[in-house]
Amino acid sequence: MDHKFIPSNSPPDRLNAPAFWFIFRANKMLVREVGHEIMVPIMIDPKEINIKPSRIHYLGILQERHCFAAEMAESQPVSGDLSFQSLWHLYDYLDDDLFNIAIRARQIINWDRTSIFCSRCGSRTKDKAKIRAKECPDCGFIMFPRISPAIIVLVEKDGKILLARAVRFKEDIYSVLAGFVEPGETLEEAVEREVEEEVGIKIKDIRYFGSQPWPFPDSLMIAFIARYKSGRIKIDKEEIVDARWFSPDNLPNIPGNISIARRMIDWFLNRKKTD
Ligand SMILES: [Zn+2]
Repeated sequence: MDHKFIPSNSPPDRLNAPAFWFIFRANKMLVREVGHEIMVPIMIDPKEINIKPSRIHYLGILQERHCFAAEMAESQPVSGDLSFQSLWHLYDYLDDDLFNIAIRARQIINWDRTSIFCSRCGSRTKDKAKIRAKECPDCGFIMFPRISPAIIVLVEKDGKILLARAVRFKEDIYSVLAGFVEPGETLEEAVEREVEEEVGIKIKDIRYFGSQPWPFPDSLMIAFIARYKSGRIKIDKEEIVDARWFSPDNLPNIPGNISIARRMIDWFLNRKKTD
């Protein structure tokens, strides 16, 4: 069996076997709870569980099953072993393949919801054939799913890492710095600018680490490792509450496993162990 997800925009003419359905109500996803297991519903048609989705997008094939993203109205109830859960919660229960498709589904549904009208002339858009895009029948403007690139950077200095508590964090959590890329900027320029703006230091040796789709609502996190070059920490109080150099044996509360920020911090800690 092929486990790799094969993305596609061309749904089958008819479903002959049950498919995975990633159904959202607001920002939560429908799952089936059986004992301690949480599963993505598998069925031919959501009618089987009395759901009438307001929008449906075909996503592709996983484990020889078709996959669909859908949205249902807030007012529609669900019953039995079905419930709606946040992706934050589901991260701990779904395997990586299913979780990644859930992220994709959420981003596509959110885009569909927010691109009903042409952003140039205001007419109602239509789905474009064969590609994931919407087209305005009046002015011809084409709207692709919106992806907003954001950089995220782990800065090292003498065996310590720079972690900051952002104003926007709800809890007492420290993380690596992050920010949106501006028009006309390279990713490296965005990394340098964000670090300088938020904590006032200069960095060097910027290297690519990895990336992660982040559908809250439409980011793509592009992660970098960098080294301290010069300057003293001076925080931008609009964005940051506190920023400090932390050594591996004295870390504050850090983000959960779902985020690439955590993957970067773990990478640093593991590398320190093997140094
Ligand atoms: Zn238009």
